[in-house]
Amino acid sequence: MEYLSRRLSLLKDDSMFKFHPNCSRLKITHLIFADDLLLFGKADFSVIFGIQSFWVSNYILPIKVLERIDKLCSSFLWGQKIHLISWNTVCLGRMQGGLGLFSAKEWNNAAAIKLLWLIHQKKDLLWVKWVHGHYLQHSNIWQVQHRSNDSWMWKQLLKVRNMLLAKFGNTEVLMSSMDSCCVNGKISMSAIYNALYQSNTSAVWAETTWGRLNYPKHSFILWLVNHSRLLTQERLCRLRLLDANLCVLCSSQPENCKHLFFECHYSAAVWNMLMDWLRFTWRTCNWCLLIHWYSHNLRGKNFKKNMKRMALAAAVYSIWQERNYRIFQAKARGPADLFRAIKYSIYSKLLNEDIPVHMKDELVKL
Ligand SMILES: [Zn+2]
Repeated sequence: MEYLSRRLSLLKDDSMFKFHPNCSRLKITHLIFADDLLLFGKADFSVIFGIQSFWVSNYILPIKVLERIDKLCSSFLWGQKIHLISWNTVCLGRMQGGLGLFSAKEWNNAAAIKLLWLIHQKKDLLWVKWVHGHYLQHSNIWQVQHRSNDSWMWKQLLKVRNMLLAKFGNTEVLMSSMDSCCVNGKISMSAIYNALYQSNTSAVWAETTWGRLNYPKHSFILWLVNHSRLLTQERLCRLRLLDANLCVLCSSQPENCKHLFFECHYSAAVWNMLMDWLRFTWRTCNWCLLIHWYSHNLRGKNFKKNMKRMALAAAVYSIWQERNYRIFQAKARGPADLFRAIKYSIYSKLLNEDIPVHMKDELVKL
């Protein structure tokens, strides 16, 4: 404890550490007496998922708490009143159209299922032995019924068990599904989560959106466009946050996703220059045709295909950025300048990538 106390005292020199708002003046990081330890620090929403992951590995948390955590995580992601995409969709896997984040509510169920599985397997753990001696006796975890004086935690665990049995129909199907979630004899919570909550339906545009070479911020904007959730003037008018709708790039047409990417003559000029540069054999400035073509013809790990996916994401991001510069900073660049900026952003990423030398030579010649 003495050593731990000395280590904790060093936290005040760590730039990453944030004091509790009421303790910063006196630089208090902790109080310790005998075997009691109180830690003080600033709570941060970004760590909340990690904290709940720790607690649910042993306990079932009340649904209200989990819903609040999901709400906090969603607010942290969007950082504004309008949550552009529902948390349920955000929590789908990337290939299913989400961001691959975990829902606290559903992660809690996955953790409870892991506890059920450990009980079923009669793992050599003290609490498992206690559950068998106290609650199960001559029954098993899949058949036991709760009694009125059982603890809240045990009743919740059996509720998850019932949900699981209802989902899989019977214990045989359930057993084989749980078996498939084991890696090297250990059950994996992510595998349970995916088996329970991830749909088998893929989003056709997912591979295009999350290309290996894409900048994450480019992929994120492209993801919003594919969900038709970018806050264009058309959407702002629909939400009654704006009265007029006029594209700031061409000043002649209303602004929506299809117009911005790439029917607007400004963005069409940028996209045509990019298609020339990358020697596209098939061309269009129509968003639906373009995404269809990308989703069916530009699949796989091939470097040039990855580069074309990267170019699309970079073009969408840069045009959106140009639109925002014009609205919020009264700055404007011509199509040729924007094309050059996109080209440099692609070069700076690719030339630092671990790619074969002949590919780099080819890139420089482009
Ligand atoms: Zn326009």
